[in-house]
Amino acid sequence: MISKKTIQKEIQFSGVGIHSGKNVDLLLKPSSSGEIIFRRTDLDNLELALDPKKIKTKNSTYIVSEGCKIQTLEHLLAVLYMSGIDSLIIEINGDEIPAMDGSASPFAQAILNAGVRSLPDSKKSIKITKSFSLDEKDASFSFSPGSDFKITYSIEYDHPAIQKQELTLSLNLENFIKEIAPARTFGFLKDVPALRAQGLAGGGSLDNAVVLDDKSVINKPLRYPDEFVRHKILDLVGDLSLMGSPLIGHFKAQRAGHGLHLKAIHFLLDNPEFWTYI
Ligand SMILES: [Zn+2]
Repeated sequence: MISKKTIQKEIQFSGVGIHSGKNVDLLLKPSSSGEIIFRRTDLDNLELALDPKKIKTKNSTYIVSEGCKIQTLEHLLAVLYMSGIDSLIIEINGDEIPAMDGSASPFAQAILNAGVRSLPDSKKSIKITKSFSLDEKDASFSFSPGSDFKITYSIEYDHPAIQKQELTLSLNLENFIKEIAPARTFGFLKDVPALRAQGLAGGGSLDNAVVLDDKSVINKPLRYPDEFVRHKILDLVGDLSLMGSPLIGHFKAQRAGHGLHLKAIHFLLDNPEFWTYI
């Protein structure tokens, strides 16, 4: 039996939102409620429970309810999921989780330092029992039974610094912290004007993203030769955490993104004959 978990003590972060460009303060507080609750301290402490039905995607994964949103949840959620934390209050005084250095390492290190505490309540895992594949244009997402939490991600970009990258990992907290959490968000310089016109990437900079011009990475060095596909795995872990339980199965994504990840999550939640609680 696995216990529900929270953090040992409060953890504070400050930083700029990669899309909003606004400075925000974030405070993680221990909780024994068994749920992850967001609290907008700038909106009379309006609370939003983490619920896949309230999640939308647009260059990031965000929660929206009662006209209020909090965007770019995925890196923090990935760390919470891999740390087994499912009971937490997340106080924030703005509409976006700070980008930090573009990776999940600052969140992972802070949680490691604060420590994690087990709660009396236990939780179930979700075990995939039947395979399925969702296809969308050039992208696909599939899941199949397995004995651990395994991800295969492959990407292909017509860019000399990326090209084709594929990585398969059976993830645990240890290898997540070493192999996945440090991988940073990436973006292309040529896309910046169009993104900014849509109100996106307003806080993106060489300090919180790997930026590529037409030929190469502007802000070298990379943290891994295949940092790009590792970051896609990080995003997928964050999105899969929306299932609300530890997962056992093999999840494969090919040229996917937040939109297709979320489609797969909705498919799984709507079709419980593909999995079982254990
Ligand atoms: Zn990301």
